[in-house]
Amino acid sequence: TIGMLAIDKNGDIAGGCTSSGLAYKLDGRVGDSPIIGAGLFIDNEVGGCVATGLGEEVVKTVVSFLVVELMRQGKTPQEACEEAIGRIVNKPNSNYKNFQVGYIAINKQGETGSYAIHEWFSMTKFQDGVNEQVPSDYYLKQ
Ligand code: ASP
Repeated sequence: TIGMLAIDKNGDIAGGCTSSGLAYKLDGRVGDSPIIGAGLFIDNEVGGCVATGLGEEVVKTVVSFLVVELMRQGKTPQEACEEAIGRIVNKPNSNYKNFQVGYIAINKQGETGSYAIHEWFSMTKFQDGVNEQVPSDYYLKQ
């Protein structure tokens, strides 16, 4: 999935996501990306989140909604993404070593966060005409 979050100068937030290519696309399967609250969620009063990775796991924790709710409670986007990853990893008998899930988030102030279970997850931030590759060590150290 490629997820995108945007905030304009008035603080209005928008988001979108594309699902992957053929990977995971079994007949009849609905991934997380088209399910609002799972693969993508925006609340213009609080912030937004987009997920990537194994959709079955993203759906189970309704992650994008969860991240926005954690930000509503006062967490930074980074803290919210990390807690949401924890919900998956800390489940009893979690199989997390065998799949990837990652999130990016933005809040109403334009602060951003990102976190994933494994490496090979990246976020690029575009602000004031400059692209910034966010450090790639924002993933769970195992
Ligand atoms: N989240 C997508 C899905 O499970 C896969 C992806 O990240 O590309 O459908």
